[in-house]
Amino acid sequence: MSTRKEDIANNLAHVREKIQVSARSSNRELSEIKLIAVTKTFPAIDVEILHELGIRDFGENRDSEGAAKSKEVQGDWHFQGQIQGNKLKSITKWATFIHSLDSHDHLEKIATLCKEREGTPLGIFIQVSLDGAHGRGGVPAQELTKLADSVISTVGIQLMGLMAVAPLGIEADKAFAELAVIHRAFSANFPTATALSAGMSGDYESAISHGATHIRVGSSILGSRTPEM
Ligand SMILES: *Cc1c(COP(=O)(O)O)cnc(C)c1O
Repeated sequence: MSTRKEDIANNLAHVREKIQVSARSSNRELSEIKLIAVTKTFPAIDVEILHELGIRDFGENRDSEGAAKSKEVQGDWHFQGQIQGNKLKSITKWATFIHSLDSHDHLEKIATLCKEREGTPLGIFIQVSLDGAHGRGGVPAQELTKLADSVISTVGIQLMGLMAVAPLGIEADKAFAELAVIHRAFSANFPTATALSAGMSGDYESAISHGATHIRVGSSILGSRTPEM
């Protein structure tokens, strides 16, 4: 029987290897790709194991989980779930980055909460919807500039770039090719916000080939979640 730590270490080594191969085959530097370990639904003890294995970036979808685990393990905490306005007061306390901004209303709340933020500004990724539907969050590509303009004129926060999730029912490679086009135009307009958060367990290699700088990987490292969320 292997221990939990051995299992996680093996999974992590496998993921790191695949990241390396993908980076090499698309002529990208490994150093420009950040692996965020998505720890949602997993206990803080697993996050501690990941920390021992060198991971310093953790992703969460729910405020309650992120608030609790971030108290126990040091690192950069990434909020990547759909935002609920009434949770922002707490989220902006524990999160270093929010990947899922998709509304002016939420930006206004964040602006009020971060006005007197001490230390590093809160990093903001704007989520873009690749199918124009609102089911999995995100704004349509044509609305990005307006929201980004508002983000860059807000104190206490820093525009990082874009985030996307490949829509269900569309081949990830096709979705991320479209994302790369959107990202190129966006980066030209906002040259200080060139990050691209894309790719999960099933599609991070494709995301890397299309320029992802932040990949969010959960189940390939920690195993399958029950119940799935
Ligand atoms: C759950 C989740 C992930 C990680 O998904 P896995 O398939 O477990 O790697 C990444 N990004 C978002 C937005 C998620 O909700």
